[in-house]
Amino acid sequence: MAPDFIHNPKYNDIQLTDHFKLSEFRCRCGDKPSTRIYYCGGGVIVPPNDFLIALEKLRSLVGMVLISSAYRCYHWNKFVGGEPKSYHTQFNMRFSKYGAADLFFPEYDKQFKGTDSYWLTLRQVIQDSGFTGIIQYKIAGHCHCDCRPTPYFEFKNKK
Ligand SMILES: [Zn+2]
Ligand SMILES: [Zn+2]
Repeated sequence: MAPDFIHNPKYNDIQLTDHFKLSEFRCRCGDKPSTRIYYCGGGVIVPPNDFLIALEKLRSLVGMVLISSAYRCYHWNKFVGGEPKSYHTQFNMRFSKYGAADLFFPEYDKQFKGTDSYWLTLRQVIQDSGFTGIIQYKIAGHCHCDCRPTPYFEFKNKK
């Protein structure tokens, strides 16, 4: 059991990079009071350097980036229907091995959502930023980005 301060957003409200706070990478099971007791309650895992550099690079190219899910504890990953060995769950103590996050791009969307090249351009920009794992979710409107060792791309048309 991790000490309580790990779970308190107040203590995780520290600036990790120019535009992202440590708390933005927390497990979202802590955001749901009903599951808080049973799961990790919002533990934070620090993504690796190359992931954070890619994230900042991406932000400089597309504007604001919202993280809807980064680290997931085992139970929360199961709860949201994540792959059993999802990159969201792969970590070593307090540090994620490859880093993973589901991202929304509100400023980029405002300008380009609905255009023919929207997804293709976004994929290119994410790749250029340094991410190796990219899964685009057309319906949900977000992109999964990680720094796995072998490049992977998938475009999900449904769900
Ligand atoms: Zn959790
Ligand atoms: Zn994801």
